[in-house]
Amino acid sequence: MENGLIIVYTGNGKGKTTAALGLVLRAVGYGYKVSMIQFIKGSWHYGEMNSSKRLEPEFELTAVGKGFVGIIDDKSPRSEHKKMAKEALLLSVEKILSKKYDIIILDEINYAINLGLIELSEVLKLLDKKPINLNLVLTGNYAKKEIIERADIVTEMKEIKHPFKQGQKAKKGIDF
Ligand code: ATP
Ligand code: MG
Repeated sequence: MENGLIIVYTGNGKGKTTAALGLVLRAVGYGYKVSMIQFIKGSWHYGEMNSSKRLEPEFELTAVGKGFVGIIDDKSPRSEHKKMAKEALLLSVEKILSKKYDIIILDEINYAINLGLIELSEVLKLLDKKPINLNLVLTGNYAKKEIIERADIVTEMKEIKHPFKQGQKAKKGIDF
């Protein structure tokens, strides 16, 4: 791969993380090395945490964090969320600079920025340091305009309908 892209999946509709996982499936098909770092997902379990193992060694998935911030079952203090997000960012820097990967996905990083768990300036610095060949994917709603400006591909998932609005719970294999 040459001339890597910055790709952003944002918006309030479903499909941001799953779009990134679709890219993983496609890229691993050519033997590319892909790493996904999940920000703020630690206490939840997602199907991809199981299936990622089937795509090893080309794909690696690391979940860092304490689950959702400030809602429902969140018992962690904000300082703890901040610590984990910082940790995820440090790991991201390390992997980005390692030049070992063709694609790196920073899943839910836009939420971490929007919630003030990590600094936008830190993330912009990271984008500046991106090796030329690396494709970098950033997911999560509320993508900051500075990130959108620097990205090559920006897709906004727009909710038209979601059963959540009718009080239906998240579905296994679809939502998690
Ligand atoms: P997915 O992981 O399904 O691709 P996503 O990455 O676009 O969704 P997030 O904002 O990361 O969505 O939300 C995490 C969880 O909320 C997932 O379980 C997801 O399926 C669910 N979700 C996504 N969009 C909506 C929505 N509009 N209403 C309710 N739940 C949603
Ligand atoms: Mg997501």
